[in-house]
Amino acid sequence: MQITVTKEFEFDAAHHLTKYYGKCERVHGHTYKLLVTVSGELSNNDMLIDFIILKRVVKKYVLDYLDHHDLNTLFENPTTEKVALWIWDKLENLDSLLIEELDDPNLDAEIKSYLTSTENIDKSNQNNKISLKEIKLYESKTSYVTLSK
Ligand SMILES: [Zn+2]
Repeated sequence: MQITVTKEFEFDAAHHLTKYYGKCERVHGHTYKLLVTVSGELSNNDMLIDFIILKRVVKKYVLDYLDHHDLNTLFENPTTEKVALWIWDKLENLDSLLIEELDDPNLDAEIKSYLTSTENIDKSNQNNKISLKEIKLYESKTSYVTLSK
């Protein structure tokens, strides 16, 4: 049996499509919804991942670049597919990003000691117990792109 954990995020961004003829070639905005799903094994605290740490990683590597930005400054043709692929690329090495996050001196000491006591994020043994499983990027309530492995 496989267990997955998903966290939802939202960000607002402007864009216009450059290889498209129609109203989407004009500048407009979306409130994108991003669902990040990770898979792995339960640690000895009966959790797969701490949502707080996942949130910090997604904010730092994804949302800070996209939220309230003009996506055309980052992508030549910012379709939802292209943005989703970029997000996947940023989060692909999730295990190392999570470990790196634990080294952030700003991370609350209590959370840090709690998390380093679990098996999932063990700096001495990067055993890939947590990996990125799927992302869904919603451009609207009914239109979204899925990437999964
Ligand atoms: Zn659009």
